[in-house]
Amino acid sequence: MLQLERNPKARKLVDAQVEAGGGRIVEIPGEADWREAADEIRGAVQVDIRFASFKDGRGFSLAALLRERAGFTGKLRAVGDLIPDQALHLKRVGFDDVAPDTDGLEADWARARARFSHAYQPAQDKRTPVFRHRQAKPQDNLAALNARYRGLSAEEILRDAIENEWVGKIAVLSSFGAEAAVGLHMIAQIAPDTPVVFLDTGRLFAQTEQYQQALSEQLGLTNIRVLTPDSAEAAEEDHDDRLWQRDPDACCALRKVRPLDRAIGDYDALITGRKRFHGGERMALPVVERIDGRIRVNPLASWDAEAVNAYFKRFDLPRHPLSDMGYASIGCWPCTAPVQDDGDVRSGRWQGRDKTECGIHAPAQRIAAE
Ligand code: SF4
Repeated sequence: MLQLERNPKARKLVDAQVEAGGGRIVEIPGEADWREAADEIRGAVQVDIRFASFKDGRGFSLAALLRERAGFTGKLRAVGDLIPDQALHLKRVGFDDVAPDTDGLEADWARARARFSHAYQPAQDKRTPVFRHRQAKPQDNLAALNARYRGLSAEEILRDAIENEWVGKIAVLSSFGAEAAVGLHMIAQIAPDTPVVFLDTGRLFAQTEQYQQALSEQLGLTNIRVLTPDSAEAAEEDHDDRLWQRDPDACCALRKVRPLDRAIGDYDALITGRKRFHGGERMALPVVERIDGRIRVNPLASWDAEAVNAYFKRFDLPRHPLSDMGYASIGCWPCTAPVQDDGDVRSGRWQGRDKTECGIHAPAQRIAAE
């Protein structure tokens, strides 16, 4: 077994307890729901989280949630299909040990372990645990966060957000629209197992669905979370499939806002791809903001169309199939049109209506400081 922590005393105690038959070890799959897992591991001294594939990052999120939400302080071990490149992230989300399926990589694991600088378990080590370290930082101080991120590149902001500020508690919100590949490509370089939340409204262009799958595969994103509207609510509220026409705000609430609200509880922070050059409410977009008590990180806030195009070119990223047809911002098919020559990026959305946002970013409730 390869150890991730230098807390031999605590581990010995757990091991001795287990060997003496006095401790319960529970194995749970990485894809388990954390609330159900929290019930299952109650009273256990050791929990093994099994990774079916190193490409499936759900075990990381589960570990972080068991530590921070369920308060599990026993021994946490990652088992299964893992690679040494994942050691740092395993440590950061709270694992103590790892038992990979593949033998013969001990030297690689040892090298990976040497990069660690924090301990995790508050009960088993005197050093500052990662999540306490994070809590001690002024993460709720938006002005301080924005000041710290000012001058950093989008990649640097993302890396700090994912690896330091909101470890295991951050997801990307992506529409897989016209500019989405830029931020997703950055995420894929930093942590391809970062959860990517995708709202499948049931009204998306077929091209968007195809692009989502092809781009995810090309970038190696391993943790796509597709959210759909509640079918009973949809049947009741949109029985004629015309809610978008009768009441687009209600349609967005049914198909976007409420599905996101139901899933958002797992995260403290969401990354978005919004940019100031999109116009409207977004012209005042800060890099970090708080909406309904949850952080939004907008690493591309200051980017313009030129920078976006240059990034696509530099990394030879595939465009959304509708981009070449004049769609500069791509949402649901009933509410998206190509942009006219003099129109701004989002002028094709909800054309002929006052509506400019779907509501998932709730601009009216934004509390931000830069
Ligand atoms: Fe409904 Fe249009 Fe909103 Fe999509 S964008 S959820 S179709 S109103």
